[in-house]
Amino acid sequence: MTDKTGIVYLIGAGPGDPGLLTIKAKECIETADVVVYDYLASPFLLNYAKRDAQIIYVGKKGGDHTLSQEKINLLLVDKAKQGFDVARLKGGDPFVFGRGGEEAQMLLSHKVPYEVVPGVTSAIAAPAYAGIPVTHRDHTSFVSFITGHEDPTKKDTSMQWDVYAKSNATLVFLMGVKNLENIVKNLIKHGKKSDTPVALVRWGTTARQMTVTGTLETIAERVKKVKLKSPAIIVIGHVVSLRDELSWFDKKPLFGKRIVITRARAQASGLVSRLSKLGAQCIEIPTIQIVPPEETAPLINSIENIKDYDWLIFTSVNGVKFFFDALFDMGHDVRILGHLKFACIGPVTKERLKTYCIISDILPASYRAESVIDAFSTVKIKGKKILLPRAKQARTVLPKELTKMGAIVDDIAAYETRLNTDGKEDLMSLLKNSEIDAITFTSSSTVSNFMSQIESKSVKKLLKNVVIASIGPITSDTARSLDIYPDIEAKEFTIKGLVNSLLEYYDGK
Ligand code: SAH
Repeated sequence: MTDKTGIVYLIGAGPGDPGLLTIKAKECIETADVVVYDYLASPFLLNYAKRDAQIIYVGKKGGDHTLSQEKINLLLVDKAKQGFDVARLKGGDPFVFGRGGEEAQMLLSHKVPYEVVPGVTSAIAAPAYAGIPVTHRDHTSFVSFITGHEDPTKKDTSMQWDVYAKSNATLVFLMGVKNLENIVKNLIKHGKKSDTPVALVRWGTTARQMTVTGTLETIAERVKKVKLKSPAIIVIGHVVSLRDELSWFDKKPLFGKRIVITRARAQASGLVSRLSKLGAQCIEIPTIQIVPPEETAPLINSIENIKDYDWLIFTSVNGVKFFFDALFDMGHDVRILGHLKFACIGPVTKERLKTYCIISDILPASYRAESVIDAFSTVKIKGKKILLPRAKQARTVLPKELTKMGAIVDDIAAYETRLNTDGKEDLMSLLKNSEIDAITFTSSSTVSNFMSQIESKSVKKLLKNVVIASIGPITSDTARSLDIYPDIEAKEFTIKGLVNSLLEYYDGK
């Protein structure tokens, strides 16, 4: 407990695409002590929270188990009074049907300071991602946001059906899926033309986005047929017809594909951002954790004696990172490496090395240990001393071959990979509910760790309709040895190569 009252930020978390969060919202999440969110706010945004922030989930879909609005209000007041800064994340914009106004009033009455961070509302963003501009000079110059939640048959309705029906505004209904039939019936009854175009956009701006179009006359039937459920935006008006011409998001090559990322979280961002840009929904279930080696002496000693070496070879970004972490921790800087020659496996490793202002002397043509050996065939390494800081469990091909060529190789553990089982339950439930389209494996350990988490007797059944994508032949070999058969193997053994192979695969489907 502190004397200070914390501040509550009522934050619009945007409609679902994490990229639609505002910079200000991100800053508030990063500094908050407590983050309160509900089911419309993308859980991805929680990654921005401080490590020790309290994360509180207050709402489940369909209203079940939802903390009542009153309890949420009290929670916000309580946490602020305890001195915590609170980020209250609300889907879309907090003041567009978000009850943000009520939360602000409540905070005010308890003398809790608050700020509002507006967000991108789903009322505009979901239509936009479906290729529907809510205004357009040729169609309409005015748009209404209307609650679809109110029972349109109730007596003291505040719904002005005649106004909606007569105006040529684009009508955007939120929370209206259950009432769709009543909404269209009332509009037609009050004179709106039955051939007026209508679209429903469910989970707009996310890889789960689904759009159904029709007219006032046909839409209810079509929605029933595909069993489209909440949350969805209903857009009514001539602008809907522009979708035929302007749809863009659902045309992305991996649109709608749910792809599991098994690599360590710290390394996943490149793959996640590439796949997301192509429209895929990435589900991060890291199967490995990357940590410093348990035994640190060999790495420390090799850095202490770095002047004895001629070459430094890095086989991964992690090797570079953990080597330099240790070097800096020991109070050195890159000047102690001035006499060395460098080799890197892979362009990404090379780029990482460059961030330490060192350019690799050798970059093999392809990204396997075998190619490094080829690359060294033109260099005199007989009698030269090579330091190889890499994963503890790494393959022995490279040091063996270099030794055969007459080099003296010190194969040192710069880091270790450990099994991460945090996502096990999520993984099993997604697999059982057929909610995964593809799984990516980016190293042998991602495969073996993945396999150790799923019930082996049901593997075949669980993975039956799941596309298995491997980054290269070694990972594929490991997979096959564990009875998983990759459908895709990258031609270039990099993240870019893996993504390209996924693209080719789905393009050919
Ligand atoms: N404050 C929110 C709206 C909250 S009301 C905003 O500004 O977006 C909840 C309703 O918002 C849902 O019933 C649905 O109609 C709509 N909604 C929220 N997110 C959505 C999304 N990603 N796609 C479609 N509709 C969404």
